[in-house]
Amino acid sequence: MWTDIRPAAEMPQLFERGGDLISFAGGLPDLDLLPLKELSEQFARLTRLGGRIALQYSTPHVAKALVPAITDLMAREGGSTGAANLVPTAGSQMGLLALGLGLAAPGETVLCQTPAYPGAATAFRTAGLRLHGAPEDAEGLDPSALRATVARLRADGQQVRMLYCNPTFQNPTGATLSVERRHQLADAARELDLLIVEDNPYGLLGFDGGTVPTLQGIDPENVVYLGTFSKVFAPGLRCGWIAAPEPVAERLRRTTEVMALSPSAFAQAALAAFHARGGWDSLIDAYRERYRERCGLMADALEKELGTEGPWRWRRPEGGFYLWLRHEVGADTGRFALAAAEQGVSFVPGSHFGLDGECGDALRLCFSNVPRKRIPEGVARLAAALRGAESG
Ligand code: PMP
Repeated sequence: MWTDIRPAAEMPQLFERGGDLISFAGGLPDLDLLPLKELSEQFARLTRLGGRIALQYSTPHVAKALVPAITDLMAREGGSTGAANLVPTAGSQMGLLALGLGLAAPGETVLCQTPAYPGAATAFRTAGLRLHGAPEDAEGLDPSALRATVARLRADGQQVRMLYCNPTFQNPTGATLSVERRHQLADAARELDLLIVEDNPYGLLGFDGGTVPTLQGIDPENVVYLGTFSKVFAPGLRCGWIAAPEPVAERLRRTTEVMALSPSAFAQAALAAFHARGGWDSLIDAYRERYRERCGLMADALEKELGTEGPWRWRRPEGGFYLWLRHEVGADTGRFALAAAEQGVSFVPGSHFGLDGECGDALRLCFSNVPRKRIPEGVARLAAALRGAESG
């Protein structure tokens, strides 16, 4: 019998944009900002002058030319790394599966921030691992409660190996863990011999241009960091990396080699060329500005349509792609999604982000890829659908 492999993407059917549907569902970047003409020239040049290498198999190492781009991007959030610590991936989704396969044995346990990016839970489960929610309070991951949780699970016979989190502009909540908590979490994890997995696709997309120190920067010897070019460049190149302590990186290199033989040398070379020409600052600034504007439009429209005293609660995120709406007295947002589709708007119900279907009283809205003019209309449709479904 086949083992159950769940979808990694959040409700893939909602990514489709038929007719007049306004989709707040899929977490897609807005690629209108890519300098396509310049890129097509760079890619053509790369093919002409370096095609015999860039289109060949490569080794399971980050291409030498791409290392400065990765170290530069990570340094912007206080991270530090070098070629020996880096493992190339075809995006963080692959990185998550590589971690599950390479750094734990089937049956062992991963603690997981909840709600969580569903692709993480799926990857760990596909690797045969057990999942358990990490303790949290109103400020997010709770380092002092972590000790008790791990002690309890271990007393119960579970091998608790890793703690998975997405601490900056989290998918799906948009929340960011405070600097103080990051230090406390790093201390607690080290004390508990728990490896931290830090998934950080959105950290450079803070709306005010500021960044928060990564856990990797705080404790590089006990953090495995997942980086990706999907949100600061484009997901279609399928290019990301893992930064890990050297022995861990070596083990993960072997694991990724089994999965994909070698990374895309072409994608790495294309990104290295983009970095060498100084392309990143203006692209990241443009992305940030665009998402800041769209998030503001969505939050303003939500305030207008749903009010601030009603049953729906949310916080304005300070970066990233997502806004998380929670119903104060509980509601089944899976049911509301059907009403919303009838009104011509889509979102992802919160249950998709729970480890076992929890968070059904919440929903995730993604603002990154909706044209600015459509956002107020989409929120008006959403509000009508929620009101109708609540009273129905
Ligand atoms: N982690 C998180 C938190 C994400 O939101 C995503 C993409 N939505 C990924 C990992 C996977 O990204 P990719 O494979 O494109 O790097």
